[in-house]
Amino acid sequence: KPRTRFAPSPTGLLHLGNLRTALFNALLARRDGGDFVLRIEDTDVERSRAEYVQALCEDLRWLGLDWQEGPEVEGIHRPYAQSARQPVYDAYYEQLEAADLAYPCFCTERELELSRRSQRAAGKAPRYAGTCAHLSAEERQARRDRGLEPTLRFRVPRGRTVTFTDHVRGPQRFDTDDIGDFIIRRADGTPAFFFSNAVDDALMGITHVLRGEDHLTNTPRQLLLLEALGLEAPSYAHISMITGDDGAPLSKRNGSRAVSELREAGFLPEAVVNHLARLGHTYEDNALLSLDGLAAGFDLGRLGRAPARFDESQLRHWQREALHALPDERMRQWMRDAAGELLPADREAAFMATVRDNVQFPEDVSRWCRILFGEVPEPDADVRAWLEQAGPAFFQAAADAGGDWQAVTGAVKEATGARGKQLFMPLRLALTGLNHGPELPDIHGLLGEDEARRRFLQAAR
Ligand code: GLU
Repeated sequence: KPRTRFAPSPTGLLHLGNLRTALFNALLARRDGGDFVLRIEDTDVERSRAEYVQALCEDLRWLGLDWQEGPEVEGIHRPYAQSARQPVYDAYYEQLEAADLAYPCFCTERELELSRRSQRAAGKAPRYAGTCAHLSAEERQARRDRGLEPTLRFRVPRGRTVTFTDHVRGPQRFDTDDIGDFIIRRADGTPAFFFSNAVDDALMGITHVLRGEDHLTNTPRQLLLLEALGLEAPSYAHISMITGDDGAPLSKRNGSRAVSELREAGFLPEAVVNHLARLGHTYEDNALLSLDGLAAGFDLGRLGRAPARFDESQLRHWQREALHALPDERMRQWMRDAAGELLPADREAAFMATVRDNVQFPEDVSRWCRILFGEVPEPDADVRAWLEQAGPAFFQAAADAGGDWQAVTGAVKEATGARGKQLFMPLRLALTGLNHGPELPDIHGLLGEDEARRRFLQAAR
């Protein structure tokens, strides 16, 4: 059974790109009854914040992407925050150093920068020059005595080829001579990304790593590390990036939004996951799917190699679908949240039945509340033209009719001979000020006879 994971660094809010990575991992595990693990990669203590962990847990839960192991759930591989796993990493550092597969590096940032610069000047891709690779015990001690705090570097084996098959990008080959000895432990003792990420995937029994394409070149390094540690490597799927409508990587500037912003804007979780699941993954089914449905149709072979373009209109399409499919109880809650004070408690059921197919976002709900429980908006020129054309007698007849909607239209028809659009549009405009909206009998019923009469008389003036 697959074990997948989402391994965010809690340095900001969860955005659409990362969320899609989480979703794909969750779907793969769910499809085959495996486990989805949430691991917090908070080794960068400066930038990591507990409130971001909290926020991303909330976001994932809101979307229904529950994890079987991780923060707030725990499990046999705990702890799930890397900041709490230092002793684990220390043991593996020792193992590597003892086997001379890693060595302390005393180079300063300035020295490293100079070296990179001269390599670039010579037309070479910069990599670590190996300055500290063969220091004697005395040389190391001398540097320590000068107060230098070393990083730890992995000794990359020379003259080898690392190969693996990526689920999306196919066979991959990397020449180890192109890979410099890289840092696996920072000078402050905390693990570098390559290390803790790979070690934890192995220790947590992760079978499939689905992650951004930008990590593809990290994979050979991580495979070498795992091999040196005698740990089992997962298989990898490096998924294509998402771009904005300008073709550039999706970011705040071209349309990416935090999950919490979408939630606050009134998007439903079903809409968000249905949209994201189809960004870079194709489904045969174009209908709204539950998470189980999305999982059942998920297939690594259907992940695309080309970048996927985020399209807000698609997200809106799924919002319409999701709202349409919403069970009554959740619809009620969604409307309540959207309407707040504007919706009188005793009118809730009638209001919901009336406007349910005419709202997509919370602002639609509040607009209909204002119209139906407050005032008809000031008529613009268009509306005024309609009202004038119908004329005072038309609305007087409607006001005098009394009774239900049938009685109103019957009376107006009889008094004026108006039919079809000439009959219904002026009535609609008199009652709502808008030329589209819910069914008129429902609106009339919701307003009640007295209020409807008041609106007809107002239109007659
Ligand atoms: N913490 C890494 C990131 O957020 C995880 C990358 C991975 O999935 O391996 O980019």
